[in-house]
Amino acid sequence: MQVSDSKMQVVWEPIADLAKSVNSGSVSALELVEKSLGLIEKHKEFNSIIATTETRAKQRAMQIDSDIADGKTVGRLAGVPFVAKDNFLTFGSETTAASNILKGFEAPYQSTAIEKLEAEGAICVAKANLDAFAHGASTENSDFFTTKNPHDMSKVPGGSSGGSTASVALKLAPFALGTDTGGSIRLPASFCGVVGYKPSYGLVSRSGVVAMASSTDVIGPIASSVEDASLVLDVIAGQDPLDSTTIERCNSYTKLSAVNKPKVGIVKEYMEQGVNPKVKELIIKAADDLKSDGAEITEISIPSLPLSLAAYYIIVPAEISSNLGRYDGQRFGKSINSGDVNDLEENYSRVRQEGFGDEAKRRIMTGTYVLSSGYYDAYYKKAQLVRTKIINDLNEAFNKVDFLMGPVSPQVAWNIGEIADPLSMYLVDIMTVAASIAGLPAISIPCGTVSDMPVGLQLIAPYKQDLKLLSLADLYERRSNG
Ligand code: GLN
Repeated sequence: MQVSDSKMQVVWEPIADLAKSVNSGSVSALELVEKSLGLIEKHKEFNSIIATTETRAKQRAMQIDSDIADGKTVGRLAGVPFVAKDNFLTFGSETTAASNILKGFEAPYQSTAIEKLEAEGAICVAKANLDAFAHGASTENSDFFTTKNPHDMSKVPGGSSGGSTASVALKLAPFALGTDTGGSIRLPASFCGVVGYKPSYGLVSRSGVVAMASSTDVIGPIASSVEDASLVLDVIAGQDPLDSTTIERCNSYTKLSAVNKPKVGIVKEYMEQGVNPKVKELIIKAADDLKSDGAEITEISIPSLPLSLAAYYIIVPAEISSNLGRYDGQRFGKSINSGDVNDLEENYSRVRQEGFGDEAKRRIMTGTYVLSSGYYDAYYKKAQLVRTKIINDLNEAFNKVDFLMGPVSPQVAWNIGEIADPLSMYLVDIMTVAASIAGLPAISIPCGTVSDMPVGLQLIAPYKQDLKLLSLADLYERRSNG
């Protein structure tokens, strides 16, 4: 079912302008929060939201409005509402990661990213749906419900940050936060026609975010424009004593500037593996557009790149099996009435049996298998060697070009229920996982539609070149909008 354009009309100004209006008193933070909550209610049928944080959001808005009335300047995101994926620890509602095992969990503290946004005056209004624990590419693995694509309700929005991207596409709020372990910001951004940014590994603190695979998890913004995404990144980026893997930020991610004659390599391997020919055409058209803006376009072959999928689906489940160990009904996770079980062992297994969905169980089993003493060398160790080879090959590619480009996904959003086989679902990640296991910054920007469904252009840059990547994306976006 195609969704009429009137449902998706532009209703938010650029984030910087919104915050200026709030700071100047021409619009109140409460008005913006009420508008966002009203839109969330109006578009409920898309299932993008798990819970709102209405009471707390309104209280924060009133506080901000009274601070402004007292002559205080609130911050660069004053009064700007946003939606957070429900794997961010936040006050004001439960944090469930869309898993039954975490139902009823109230976070004792907030994630660093949320704290930083709040320090600049932004207001979290709702928690968005996801594949449980972020395991998936469609939100169909959510233990609660499947989010519907804003462009066609019979299609998936992509995943795992499908609730966040659908919320931005539906304009429920000016921006959302997502997490990307193997493509979970970029893929749904591509399917929903919005901008999704995966920063360099370590640029944004993971503290207070439900861990999936700690060596590739990153946090990033989902927005309607590159400019908005850059502003949000600028607020959340930087070192954090609570996450020892964080790296130093550059001066400012909002200083988008002209990129002088960038060399962009179209990845050969991303243009041949069963890519929908119409998606391919759009990527070639995007390359032509970049060329008109002064880029030098070449084709580049990185033969090891397709191996990243196999390496990813060994390394990531291994880390998942370790990270999910804490949900044992004692430390975290729903508890079982002690009268119903005979001993602690039975308690553990009942909690996990009842609390985890099929996909989490599948990944725990794969992960423990590849880490077991008999198979560690055959699988886990080999996958790490492949990972190193891919990192080296990507570094070598970046000796020849400044950026890599290709599609985010070989296809557009599929029908809900169409991909039932978990292995076929894993294949969808073929073009996003390399940047993840190498820790590189990557972005999805809308570059057209195929059969009325959005297609995302993926641009990848060397490690820590986030500002350059955003600048190139901004250049491309301005041309395609203008
Ligand atoms: N689809 C990928 C997976 O299922 C990526 C998930 C993610 O980035 N969180 O692992």
